[in-house]
Amino acid sequence: MTTNQAASGMDHARREIDRLDNELVQVLAERMRIVQDVGKLKGNRTDSILLDPERERLLQARWKQRAEEAGLSGPFAARVLREVLSHSRRTQESHFGKADEKAQRLPTVAYQGEPHSYSYLAAGQLFDTRAEKGSERMGHRTFAGAVEALREGRVDYALLPTENSIAGTIGEIGQLLADSDLYVVDEETWPVEHVLAVSAGQEQAPITHVRSHPVALAQCSAYLRRLSGAISEPWHDTAGAAACLEKEPTPGVAVIASEEACVAHGLVIIQRNVADREPNLTRFLLLAREEEVVPMGIPAKTSLLLSLDHKQGALSEVLAIFAARSINLTRIESRPDPQTPWRYRFFIDLEGHRDEEGLAAALDLVRRHCNMVRVLGTYPMRTEDGRHLKGPDALGSAPPAKVEAPVVERVESVPSELLVAGTTPVQVGPLHVGGDHFTMILGPCAVESAAQIQAAAEMVSRAGASMLRGGAFEPRTSPHSFQGLGQEELDLLQAAGRAVELPVVTELMRIEDLDAVVAAADVIQVGARNMQNYALLRALGRVDRPVLLKRDLSATVDELLSAAEYITAGGNQRVILCERGIRTLETSTRSTLDLGAVAVLKTRTHLPVMVDPSHAAGVRHLVVPLALAAAAVGADGLIVEAHPNPDETLSDKQRALTSEDLEELFQGLRPILASQGRWL
Ligand code: PEP
Ligand code: MN
Repeated sequence: MTTNQAASGMDHARREIDRLDNELVQVLAERMRIVQDVGKLKGNRTDSILLDPERERLLQARWKQRAEEAGLSGPFAARVLREVLSHSRRTQESHFGKADEKAQRLPTVAYQGEPHSYSYLAAGQLFDTRAEKGSERMGHRTFAGAVEALREGRVDYALLPTENSIAGTIGEIGQLLADSDLYVVDEETWPVEHVLAVSAGQEQAPITHVRSHPVALAQCSAYLRRLSGAISEPWHDTAGAAACLEKEPTPGVAVIASEEACVAHGLVIIQRNVADREPNLTRFLLLAREEEVVPMGIPAKTSLLLSLDHKQGALSEVLAIFAARSINLTRIESRPDPQTPWRYRFFIDLEGHRDEEGLAAALDLVRRHCNMVRVLGTYPMRTEDGRHLKGPDALGSAPPAKVEAPVVERVESVPSELLVAGTTPVQVGPLHVGGDHFTMILGPCAVESAAQIQAAAEMVSRAGASMLRGGAFEPRTSPHSFQGLGQEELDLLQAAGRAVELPVVTELMRIEDLDAVVAAADVIQVGARNMQNYALLRALGRVDRPVLLKRDLSATVDELLSAAEYITAGGNQRVILCERGIRTLETSTRSTLDLGAVAVLKTRTHLPVMVDPSHAAGVRHLVVPLALAAAAVGADGLIVEAHPNPDETLSDKQRALTSEDLEELFQGLRPILASQGRWL
């Protein structure tokens, strides 16, 4: 054989091997596709098992036999098959319980900073111990940027530092969390171990500048003072400072960062443990768009956001409820409420699962003492008494959480006024709807002009109104009726309310208008036709504004209460119910005012109940008698349409009360309320 012949024989053989390898890959790919289909079928069936040992044994025996018949080594063939089977099993596992797209790929996590920053390291550690086993980390320059990426669905999670054992709370995170509708789904603690590092070859140069994040510089201030003459240079990120020094090695410049960041950027560590105090722990919260369910039995923590009525002892009443049930608070922090100067929101972390009997009962009581209670999430407890519970083993091997049964004897030690029976008043500015003071919401159906709403405001204020009503966005039965004009009307209503110092009530019809209505209104009305607009109700659950929820024409009392729960479950506890007439076989009134339902509601809920006689009566002369009956049956107040010149109004002129009608109404109400120990 010539050299040429040998070479071409070799080429041919190599081409054959390439062809067979390609076929092997195609066959394997085809096999995996079928395996996946089987996995989906198994995943959809509740009775199926992932691993069928008998089938695997048969498969292996058959494969080995065929391999040996073909002249292959049996053990070699068995090893190949084991690899193939193991990979198939893992592919199928993803269809069990987690058949969603999220399980097919690594979850993405937004953090603030650059690779090897402490947030990046904490995210790595946390996700190694979560079910996902790994993550794709995405750095952002700011905390707000990371939160935005999560809200917009560009990432699955965001991991943000919330407090440091030396530097304290990171206030911005609480603000971001309060302003978003995100949930806390996990926590992580990272031991911060700062090192001082310089560029390679510069170990001997005297240090003139030290770069790091301002918090890190503050944590090493005693050490930095000892480095006499060195200037601290604040940097946006610890790892970013290390990256920059790698790019531009500068004699005399050192960075303070994690060991991991310094090593990753080829720097030389010249001093470890440069922080003033050890341990230096940072706690992180993992945020997601949806709540995650923590199985009972895993030690858990729950985070809450509360907004309290501005009255003496409000916070201590809430704390007493937790104390009486031996619920351990791990953190309480107050942050200013940006909407109302000198009012505060409280962040509380406590031990326990939100659905545990003791905690659930405590939360029910706490809701009655707060304007707003948002459960930010229940998540596995990874910190305890300063100890850091690392990894899944710590969680897995921990004894099942002791589910606190309600401590009945201790409950009696709660001051008796905490076990509120009856109505919980809803605070509206200086007023309390549902107390001994009977609430009168008066004003026109719709805001029509500056002159009209100002005149109406003056008229109802003189008559003795507690609040001014006026629709800016008006739901009208007919599309040809006056519809209200929107933002301009909101501004006019707000101005008119301010001029006579009355809180204003107006209706919200669409989620798109929520921010505008929250900015202008003191109470947000949900009209009868929107009572079961659950998206709107959920949105109102997130805002810290009282809601006047009107009963739908065809809704039962239970349906009205469920609608209210949509709002309270979202956090907003300030809901006022309103009976406004229902559809019955009776046609002599516009709709039938269901005063029986008012009496029922007073026994079924602690929420205040108001009555709107105007929309039920439909005509002026029936409004006063129905209003008096509502007060007699125990309503907490009335919402009544009134207009200085009803004949000139664009909406429902036949039912608005004049100032004379209002006088008659107030006169009629006084003796009824006095007999009940209430006043106007
Ligand atoms: C209103 O109060 O102006 C109104 C439209 O009421 P309802 O939703 O009860 O019809
Ligand atoms: Mn109306």
